[in-house]
Amino acid sequence: MSEQQTNKDKPAAETSKPNEKSTGNGRRDDRRGDRRGDRRGNRRPRQPEPEKIWLPRTRLGTLVQSGSVQSLDTIFQNGWKIKEYEIVNKLMPDIKSLVVHVGVVQKQTDAGESTRFKSVVAVGDENGWFGVGTGKKPQLKNAIDSATQNALLNIIPVKLGCGSWECRCGTNHSIPYRTVGRGGSVKIELIPGPKGLGLVAGETIRNLLALAGVKDVWSKSFGSTSTMPSVANAVYDSIRQLHSMSLQ
Ligand SMILES: [Zn+2]
Repeated sequence: MSEQQTNKDKPAAETSKPNEKSTGNGRRDDRRGDRRGDRRGNRRPRQPEPEKIWLPRTRLGTLVQSGSVQSLDTIFQNGWKIKEYEIVNKLMPDIKSLVVHVGVVQKQTDAGESTRFKSVVAVGDENGWFGVGTGKKPQLKNAIDSATQNALLNIIPVKLGCGSWECRCGTNHSIPYRTVGRGGSVKIELIPGPKGLGLVAGETIRNLLALAGVKDVWSKSFGSTSTMPSVANAVYDSIRQLHSMSLQ
């Protein structure tokens, strides 16, 4: 890869030479010009990866691609399981993602050490859909991609509402009732808040709740809240718990 690039760089550097003719003492300037060209000027820009065509592997995927199923609501109302992340991408093209955590995982093997990257990504539409996923891959970019895809598969509707006794407006700016979620040692409690309160939480929790579409909420957190993967999982769990309550 790197050899190919340097070979392709050389001709480009040569073509840039004529421009420098005007400078009097040619040789040194030429050399300097070459070096500069090699270092930054003529580097080939990274090619964007060609868009892959999605070939659905499940019946739900086929239905979504053909347009027979047009919303995630339909999928969740019927209790269908999403097994292809492309389904979510197709139905929700504007979905946002947030890299919550990136870390290095090392393992001792026969041949030495294997280094992999672990990533935690949250996805959401800032209006009632939210998911968290993890990915572990030898390359950082692949780890983030894999985590994003995993998060898309884990997407769930957020039960929004107004459960604040101070507010009672009935709009979807908060959550309908108190909820508790756990991830690792972290426990997070979310309590409905009045309109205009904002997200009373630490930075990560605030960003995650904003991604989910919650606008006003009180929060309490317990445990080692500097452990980002646990925080993300606890937020996801607390949002999932909103549904288990409604089933009771
Ligand atoms: Zn309200």
